[in-house]
Amino acid sequence: MNHKNYFMNKEDKYSKLLVDSGLFFYGHSKGSFILPSHGYALWKNIQNSLDKKFAKHGIKNVLLPTLIPFELLEKEKQHIAGFSPECFYVEKIGEKKLENSLVLRPTSEVLFYDWYRQILQSYQQLPFLYNQWCSVFRAEKNTNPFFRNTEFLWQEGHTLHSNEKEARELTLSILTDYQDYAENILGLGIIVGRKSEGEKFAGALESYTVECLLPDGQCLQLATSHYFGDNFCRLMNVKFQNKDNQIQYPFSTSWGTSTRAIGAVVKTHADNWGLVLPFDIAPIQIAFIVIGQSEELINYYQEIYSMLSPIYRCQLYNKNSRFNLNILQADKEGCPFKIILGKEEMEKYQITLVRRDHIERKITIDLEINEWERKLIPAYEKYMESLSELLDDKTKEQMVNFQGESIQHFKKNLKQGKLCGIIGKENEKFQKKLSQKSIEFRDNHMFPENNLTELKNKIKNGVKGLFLIPFCNDLNCEKKMKDQVISYSIRYLPILEKKNKKIKKCLFCQSDTEIVAYLGRSY
Ligand SMILES: [Zn+2]
Repeated sequence: MNHKNYFMNKEDKYSKLLVDSGLFFYGHSKGSFILPSHGYALWKNIQNSLDKKFAKHGIKNVLLPTLIPFELLEKEKQHIAGFSPECFYVEKIGEKKLENSLVLRPTSEVLFYDWYRQILQSYQQLPFLYNQWCSVFRAEKNTNPFFRNTEFLWQEGHTLHSNEKEARELTLSILTDYQDYAENILGLGIIVGRKSEGEKFAGALESYTVECLLPDGQCLQLATSHYFGDNFCRLMNVKFQNKDNQIQYPFSTSWGTSTRAIGAVVKTHADNWGLVLPFDIAPIQIAFIVIGQSEELINYYQEIYSMLSPIYRCQLYNKNSRFNLNILQADKEGCPFKIILGKEEMEKYQITLVRRDHIERKITIDLEINEWERKLIPAYEKYMESLSELLDDKTKEQMVNFQGESIQHFKKNLKQGKLCGIIGKENEKFQKKLSQKSIEFRDNHMFPENNLTELKNKIKNGVKGLFLIPFCNDLNCEKKMKDQVISYSIRYLPILEKKNKKIKKCLFCQSDTEIVAYLGRSY
């Protein structure tokens, strides 16, 4: 493959930015990708933030094989039917043709349930709360970096429960976790709902989804959470002995999100200068730019760096000989903050802080401690002295050195606390601004529409976004919708039924309905 083709296509700014900023590189086989260190670190930070949420439910990570025996997939035909055309099959080992071919996992349901069947015996073992971070394989005709890839990274959680209530609750708790992650960590204006009959995951009783409207007006499914009842366990013959000594099928859930999240973050937040990454997941949170090379200045940089690097992910940008090129690079890579240090800053004992969402604004921070803080130092010195009074002479001697160090440390902590306080406050504003922009975009692109002809006209005239339509949630009507509104689908239905809702007529069958469906184009 000629990689140059991608870069020469000026239209494709998104792909170019991904490559230039070090998040992505094209793999050799169609639709595959390399995650360079910047992209890998971003994905790791996403993993860490989700793992923390999962751990609160007692969920643990496991790893299952990549290869699935074809026979095992056959057992679960209904489930695999949807994936079969996208599967990669392994037919040979060396020159020898395999009698039973293997499949590269498109998803791991059958492996999880096959494993669960072997280890589950009694109700006392339940719930099973396991999650897997791995890559999955799906052949795609049209590939798009992070949105459609033949091999991509994701997490898939698969849980078993002895009762329905617990399984349903977990399905919704995970949905809330995804919502919080999308809104507060990724800074996305999202919409959360349940899937229509036609869009539900095969075999699921309920599918819930977190979706984001991207700047091109298309909807991206960011994360889903499914409740299966005991359907999958029946199909895969997973049973246990319950409290009453009877054999029963467990209730199960599954849920996942993928590297698509990176695509959503990039498309939503990027500006003319490059990526804008939310603070919590940014590989580098603070980029240091030093203007000049004098020894004094380097020492000054080191003093500041040593204060912040134990707390934040910091990096010195100095690969380019000109400092403005280093600034451009840090901006392109999406670092939320830059700290700029030059002769002027050093002489005034200041730093210049710049926020990525507002690069013209320079925030000057005085490192000299203020009057109030200065009063704390003699108080601390006194405290140290009174401490040494309590000691015997020998220990007192040893204490002398320690006392000096401790006072130095105290002074440094005062500065560090001050600096972190300012960065923390600026970060709150930064994160809020990112979210607000995305929320505003979402709210400005939702259109209630009660008339089918009007809907078609709007679409024809290039209106992009989500259309809120009265819909009966019947499969036949969903088919009619797909025939009449080409390349649109029901993205979701509200989860909770509002009280006193108005009865309207379904756009496709004219029957009475209270449901408002969100119609959109999806990635
Ligand atoms: Zn209908």
